[in-house]
Amino acid sequence: MKNHLTNQQVYDVLVVGCGVAGMYGALQFDENTSVLMLAKYEKNVSNSNLAQGGVAAVLDLEDDSYELHINDTMIAGGQANDIEAVDTLVREGPGDVLNVMNNMGVEFDRKEDGTLDKTLEGGHSRRRIMHYKDSTGAELVRKLLAETQRHPNIEVSDQTALYSLSRVKSGFRADIIKDGKPGSIFCSYCILCTGGIGRIYKYTTNPKTATGDGIRIAYELGAKIKNLSYIQFHPTAFNSEDGEQFLISESVRGEGAVLKNCNKERFMQRYDERLELAPRDVVSRSIILESRRTGSNNFYLDITHEDPDFVKWRFPGIYEGCMKYGVDMTKDLIPIFPCQHYLMGGIETDLDAKTTVPRLYAAGECANTGVHGKNRLASNSLLEALVFSRRAAQDIKRCMAAGFPGVQEYPSPMEHIEGGAPVPKGIKTEIRSIMQRSYFVLPDPGAIRSGKDQIDNILKRLKGGSFAITTDFCEALSMATAAHIILNEVDDR
Ligand SMILES: Cc1cc2nc3c(=O)[nH]c(=O)nc-3n(C[C@H](O)[C@H](O)[C@H](O)COP(=O)(O)OP(=O)(O)OC[C@H]3O[C@@H](n4cnc5c(N)ncnc54)[C@H](O)[C@@H]3O)c2cc1C
Repeated sequence: MKNHLTNQQVYDVLVVGCGVAGMYGALQFDENTSVLMLAKYEKNVSNSNLAQGGVAAVLDLEDDSYELHINDTMIAGGQANDIEAVDTLVREGPGDVLNVMNNMGVEFDRKEDGTLDKTLEGGHSRRRIMHYKDSTGAELVRKLLAETQRHPNIEVSDQTALYSLSRVKSGFRADIIKDGKPGSIFCSYCILCTGGIGRIYKYTTNPKTATGDGIRIAYELGAKIKNLSYIQFHPTAFNSEDGEQFLISESVRGEGAVLKNCNKERFMQRYDERLELAPRDVVSRSIILESRRTGSNNFYLDITHEDPDFVKWRFPGIYEGCMKYGVDMTKDLIPIFPCQHYLMGGIETDLDAKTTVPRLYAAGECANTGVHGKNRLASNSLLEALVFSRRAAQDIKRCMAAGFPGVQEYPSPMEHIEGGAPVPKGIKTEIRSIMQRSYFVLPDPGAIRSGKDQIDNILKRLKGGSFAITTDFCEALSMATAAHIILNEVDDR
């Protein structure tokens, strides 16, 4: 039965987030389960929609093996990964990739003979990345979104931010801001799929959705947050003068691009024998160390030796993105520099995506399943989003089948502060500068200590004031909370 947000505001399952994790999770429920899925802004604004390189999975057991994929994931993660979670990811992931491909219309590039055109990325010992040109995420989002529209039990509400959750008997009250107005709905189960925290940094590849809202909301509810300081800095974001950091995918290096310093010389041989295809953290650190050695932040990616037609065909989105800045990647060096890209830690979950709060689940980038350890292997996160959002839904279905009651208590809706103040101007920018200064590729212990105090003051200000409950306020609170947890975690180490 389909409910409507404005009419009957009780749902079996609330899925917060409309990225790959949210949509794939929502699609696991049958027509008897009412699902409300929220997107903070437009439905297609998410990290998922920007994913370029692809999704990693072992589909060919003759040329590849689960053990090799597990091993590559553990090496990239510095052996700090949860081996059980990695095992689940790698062995179950191929089933989910085949499911989106065969049953949901997701397309991946194929060779002339019709077989999948798998690519290679840093840290992978085999070609096992399925991709759709250089916009795999957009293809997944487009097809999964179309699929949700074919399911009458799923209602999608965009321009709707979850502000907070409170526990009620057998479920939650969810306080939301829809089209700028506060309100409340009720649900028996909630899956948080709110994505990452990139926007707490000045330089990030993440879109405006990535402010850590789900992590703050879970934290406030008492859920355990783990390894929030495990943040991935991607080595190759386009280094534009206007500060816009769009990603130059790992697969450009996979197809032969090399890194050059300010003197237009290759330098990775100084830092790692895997050269440009070393894991992301190694390449990012190497760039920063090289910048200290040369005294310059000018770095380049060079793929000019490849066939221009192949480059344009294989990387149409990146080619266009570079052209907007007057850089023709078939002839020119691409200016790059590392920036924030991905969050490995998050809301602690078990193998069924259960958090430490009953009936609360988390999947995708906001969750800490432990699969990535200290550093995510390229193209493993779309896979994680698929595997663990499905597992969350399966666990909820098991609870429902076992006869667990649905939500039974409907306390009055969130109070709205009439005439509340707007968020003080500049507070988000301040948080971003603090994080950029203190905890970037090579953290600065002094800046971490002073940053911690500054963030705590910001948090006090936000919590102590009479602010209007707006999406802007929700985000500022989430950003400050995430920054607070991260800086405390690294300072305690
Ligand atoms: C540029 C770029 C390239 C990438 N390339 C790859 C790649 O090639 N392969 C790969 O595996 N991974 C890649 N990643 C990482 C991967 O895309 C993400 O980790 C993954 O898509 C996260 O999916 P998600 O569903 O967890 O979150 P997202 O896709 O970020 O979705 C989050 C959703 O939550 C919603 N939301 C957030 N807060 C709230 C709130 N308060 N209320 C309501 N809704 C909310 C947002 O509106 C959004 O709909 C890339 C990431 C980026 C940024």
